[in-house]
Amino acid sequence: MEYQASSTRYATMKYNRCGKSGLKLPAISLGLWHNFGGVDVFENSRAIARRAFDLGITHFDLANNYGPPPGSAEENFGKMMKLDFKPYRDEMIISTKAGHYMWEGPYGEWGSRKHILASLDQSLKRMGLEYVDIFYSHRPDPETPLEETMDALATAVKQGKALYVGISKYKPAEAKKAFKILRDLGTPCLIHQPSYSMFNRSIEEEGLLDLLEDEGVGSIVFSPLAQGLLTDRYLKEIPADSRAAKPSIFLKESDITPEKLSKIRQLNELAKERGQSLAQMALAWVLRKGRVTSALIGASKVSQIEDNAAALNNLEFSEEELNKIDQILNS
Ligand code: NDP
Repeated sequence: MEYQASSTRYATMKYNRCGKSGLKLPAISLGLWHNFGGVDVFENSRAIARRAFDLGITHFDLANNYGPPPGSAEENFGKMMKLDFKPYRDEMIISTKAGHYMWEGPYGEWGSRKHILASLDQSLKRMGLEYVDIFYSHRPDPETPLEETMDALATAVKQGKALYVGISKYKPAEAKKAFKILRDLGTPCLIHQPSYSMFNRSIEEEGLLDLLEDEGVGSIVFSPLAQGLLTDRYLKEIPADSRAAKPSIFLKESDITPEKLSKIRQLNELAKERGQSLAQMALAWVLRKGRVTSALIGASKVSQIEDNAAALNNLEFSEEELNKIDQILNS
């Protein structure tokens, strides 16, 4: 049946300004790294994306290599655009990235102008789009001059193939340099995409969040649920359909240690006291004090999208609750 977006799709989502730009992003965005590839059930991926959009999640985050196989998440998303979302293109923020390994030979990865611009052309083709809203350098390249990589991003904007640019996984010192280069090129950096969750607070410790505030650059944090650890998924066992049980190399059964599980269980109790699921509390926590523009989640089921979107019902923490969380994490 033809998809008709929900008429209430803007009723409950919160939209946060991305740094000092004109763009607002939903407090919760959906990433297509896992569960949207050629190995996954297309109708399930499609249902997740539709439900997300119906709940006001206007931002979909991709990369050239998402799958598996690499490229297939963009192909599947292109299919969804054609089948469902075409009438809604102007209500959507679609991002993609270049920089991780994508094809054979010296131009298939990293930060050369050659790789970055060829990869964007491939991504647009796979998704059937004329432009993406945000185009990222997916990781810093220690061997390519930063000026070359940033100039390639700015070129994408000049070519009309991207509206905004971003960087991902850059440390504060190199991010600061990148921001200056992009500003000088007349293409200010919209956004930085680092990893951030209760289990990974490096962006607080290394000063990246402070830098982004000073520079007026937005932040979208990936894996805010620590790939599913900060949910009720692993409280009792490792379910057969979970990321840890599947062939993904990014979350392994061995990552779920007794120490982690003890913290997860204590956090789960605190979430219950707040009247939230653990996933909801973990999302509210990354969004606390308005320092992060958007929490970039993944999902393998429609119900997870619904659970996560409802995190917005309670984003406030008392000092006591925040201290309790620190205590649990440091125990
Ligand atoms: P999360 O930390 O949100 O983990 C998502 C996983 O958590 C889901 O696949 C699901 O696991 C589980 N989950 C989600 N919601 C719930 C819920 N309510 N209850 C129970 N379990 C839940 O994020 P990801 O690690 O998936 O990353 C999100 C996005 O960030 C990616 O898609 C990508 O766009 C981006 N990213 C960017 C990177 C970069 O280098 N720039 C690197 C990594 C990610 P299960 O599948 O087991 O059900």
